[in-house]
Amino acid sequence: MEGPQVKALADRLAEFILGRRIDRIDVPADRWQANVLLKHCSGRNIKSITSRGRWLIWDFSHGISWVCFPLRQWRWSMALNQNHQAEIRPLSKTVGRRPLLKLTFANQDVLTLSGRPIFLVLMTDAVARHPSLHNLGPDILDPSLTVLQWAQRVRSAGAKNICHALMNPAIACGIGNELKCETLFAARLHPATPISSLPTEDLERCLHTARELALAAYRRAMGSPFPMHDHPRVYDRAGEPCDICTAPIEADHSGHDGHWSWYCPTCQARAEEMTLFSKLPFSQRDWRLEQGNTGARPISGPRPPAAH
Ligand SMILES: [Zn+2]
Repeated sequence: MEGPQVKALADRLAEFILGRRIDRIDVPADRWQANVLLKHCSGRNIKSITSRGRWLIWDFSHGISWVCFPLRQWRWSMALNQNHQAEIRPLSKTVGRRPLLKLTFANQDVLTLSGRPIFLVLMTDAVARHPSLHNLGPDILDPSLTVLQWAQRVRSAGAKNICHALMNPAIACGIGNELKCETLFAARLHPATPISSLPTEDLERCLHTARELALAAYRRAMGSPFPMHDHPRVYDRAGEPCDICTAPIEADHSGHDGHWSWYCPTCQARAEEMTLFSKLPFSQRDWRLEQGNTGARPISGPRPPAAH
């Protein structure tokens, strides 16, 4: 689940429970956080539910916050008056059934969280100082962040290539690996494209594309029909034909960002790179890299895992 989906989750949860008081909190007895949750938040009102990047943040009326991060899959579901089940989008079908947390409200509505997220209980005024959050840049869906400002943050942060620029949450948070791959495909950029070789207008076009795709993902997660593609064009599709040119999609670590990058080698062919004295085609540079065994070659063989 990436930033736009977490934002949609926060908005959907707020529809159901914002301002309401939690009467009872049940957690498995063998989970360490049971006593903390019961002690601090039972009988309290939910003041706000927001997101920052992939973090979901609950603020309570007594100055305590829950800060959650979806490590893998999680599921939130709401039983309204015990006779109508309402799933909170976006759904996951792969999460286990064992609940991590069950919240009961005054009218017997029950909200259940299943899965294994990071789940922190913090003083609200300490949330922004937490090591995982205090270095986060603005959210990609924050309307006050302009594409021009975003491009300036990329350049001032010294991002090495376009993958680093998109995946560094200190520049702008909310982009996960799927959104990165889909953005680069839509912008026709190779994952290893150096920022130094990108004209400002191309960088801004890429960031604009990332925001458009993030907005589409948010709308889909909110349940709105949206005319853009709702399936990945390249992400986790190694070996399958490209929708545009039918070339097999490749996956490798050429973005050097610690994640797999899926891309079409034809639609996202490497551009020329400026060297100190002249232009050196990427194809020649590839040859040198491969001789040096840097691991930059596209892989073949087993399908790589869906890295996040
Ligand atoms: Zn293609």
